[in-house]
Amino acid sequence: MPAPYHDNAAVDLTLDTRHDLRHDWRLEEIEALFALPFNDLLFRAQQVHRAHFDPNAVQVSTLLSIKTGACPEDCKYCPQSGHYNTGLGKEKLLEIEKVVEQARAAKEAGASRFCMGAAWRSPRERDLEVVLEMVGRVKALGLETCMTLGMVDTDQASRLAEAGLDYYNHNLDTSPEYYGEIITTRSYADRLDTLANVRDAGMKVCSGGILGMGEAPRDRAALLQQLACLNPHPESVPINMLVKVPGTPMENVEDLDPLEFIRAIAVARILMPTSHVRLSAGREQMDESTQAMAFLAGANSIFYGDTLLTTGNPQVERDRALFDKLGLHPEQRDTRTDDERAETALAHAIQRQRDDALFYDAAQA
Ligand code: SF4
Repeated sequence: MPAPYHDNAAVDLTLDTRHDLRHDWRLEEIEALFALPFNDLLFRAQQVHRAHFDPNAVQVSTLLSIKTGACPEDCKYCPQSGHYNTGLGKEKLLEIEKVVEQARAAKEAGASRFCMGAAWRSPRERDLEVVLEMVGRVKALGLETCMTLGMVDTDQASRLAEAGLDYYNHNLDTSPEYYGEIITTRSYADRLDTLANVRDAGMKVCSGGILGMGEAPRDRAALLQQLACLNPHPESVPINMLVKVPGTPMENVEDLDPLEFIRAIAVARILMPTSHVRLSAGREQMDESTQAMAFLAGANSIFYGDTLLTTGNPQVERDRALFDKLGLHPEQRDTRTDDERAETALAHAIQRQRDDALFYDAAQA
């Protein structure tokens, strides 16, 4: 039997769960984490998770497609690509009032962030004007705002930031090595450029990928390496399970073992300790146990609501029932300053040390 990776002395798996914020992860270190015994991996992920977050709080976002279909890009998983015939109707950019109405409903249903997605290669000037107004109107409701509009240059990113956009979503999708199998109309470097433009404009970054697209285990590790080597880490890391949509080139790809998916969530949590790791597309196909395991592995964000762009998402009531069963609650929007957050983290660390000391004293008594 080959020696497991975690016995490899060349790979140091010691982990400081409180302070390990690194941007120099090597691929073999990440593969070694993936290869840990499942229980050990989940235990480490829980340790990291508890050092940085309320373990029972889940950030809740709602996602609305503001412009659906006829996208010129050829992403092989996507029903919105104009390259494939998936029977999806084309829609024009939604009117601002309709978007605001949906945002209000999302807030009433418990969402703290409202994400708006448009199927564009990049926004055209006349569309951008409308989108900038949407940002202002949704933000005025007291929601955090997020958009995904395709590639943005430095000027577009600055204007979105000035309009008050909090987050910009742009996924890396997969590893640099496997990327060419999935998309040919834009490069990996294009994606990284957009992320850099978003960051330079002062917005928060939401970036993750899709698993189960026929990639090798090494590709999953390499995707997470790319994300974890961004400095700072993306504040939000959506980990999607492929939804196989008939009519796309990915409709018959082999299923990914759900336990491999959970491993990826746990590794993402360990590599990016302070990021929100989002259990994203594909949740509808997961049973409750798999979702519960994902939360245990460190996922602490979900999309909540009726639709996730164009693929189904579990209904709000089902999500509420699952939260009740697991004792989870929606995370409140954090309005503290960085200094206040640092003070709270320090107070928690001191309290934890006291608790540990008490535990050891009691155990030895
Ligand atoms: S994933 Fe985005 S960019 Fe790619 S085809 Fe779909 S809508 Fe277009």
